[in-house]
Amino acid sequence: MGIFGDYHMHTRASDGRDTVAAMARRAEEAGLSEIAIADHGCGSFMFRQTEEKFRAQQTEIAKLRDEGRVRVLSGIEGSITGEDGTLDVPDEMIRACDVLVVGFHRFLSLRYIAKAPSFLLVNGWGSKRAKEKLKALNTRAWLAAMRRYPVDVLCHLGHRAPVDAAAICRLAAEKGIYVELNEKHIDALEAYADEVIASGVKFILGSDAHSAKGVGAFPRTEEFIKRHGIEEERVVGMGAKAEFHPKKDFIATK
Ligand SMILES: [Zn+2]
Ligand SMILES: [Zn+2]
Repeated sequence: MGIFGDYHMHTRASDGRDTVAAMARRAEEAGLSEIAIADHGCGSFMFRQTEEKFRAQQTEIAKLRDEGRVRVLSGIEGSITGEDGTLDVPDEMIRACDVLVVGFHRFLSLRYIAKAPSFLLVNGWGSKRAKEKLKALNTRAWLAAMRRYPVDVLCHLGHRAPVDAAAICRLAAEKGIYVELNEKHIDALEAYADEVIASGVKFILGSDAHSAKGVGAFPRTEEFIKRHGIEEERVVGMGAKAEFHPKKDFIATK
């Protein structure tokens, strides 16, 4: 399959190992024409992201934009921190980035945990009945985030958090939000594959690489796409006809 884009990867600004330049170099070697760096938001002690680091990264990306052959987008992977959809990303960063990716992550700093309902801590384990309650809660949180922010991509849907995928994808399709095919967590989408595909939502590729060597590598995702008969035209980063339309284009507006 021809792959030309990868819209989810991490660098040293959060929990990745390599620099933006190293990621872009690897992307070029892998034959990609477009990537998005999507380091984590600021709400986690594990990910060590700060506004300063993000600003420095944007300067680095702007430099690469003038030099490199790969188009590098500045993204951010925000964590949904509560039922009202609040992300762990300051508004300034959301305004400044090209691509807003959102998802669920377990590790959050105390100030979020204190505000957030217990779902952030218990997602991923618990009884079947508890899971049903969580599912409703998680779904409300996803929907609220999509209504509140200019979300471009829903990442690793279903990962560690049961959801009503049909309801989420309905709103995503309506709002032109892409559902990520995440190489690291593609198995999380398996349980929801049929309803997600039936929803008509568009997909986007994300390796979730935490070092340069994972950039543009999608063996599990390709297998998933083939097995479920997803048309290439429906996958940004793969089908030549699937153009990426982020909510705001940093390059155009700056
Ligand atoms: Zn993630
Ligand atoms: Zn990630």
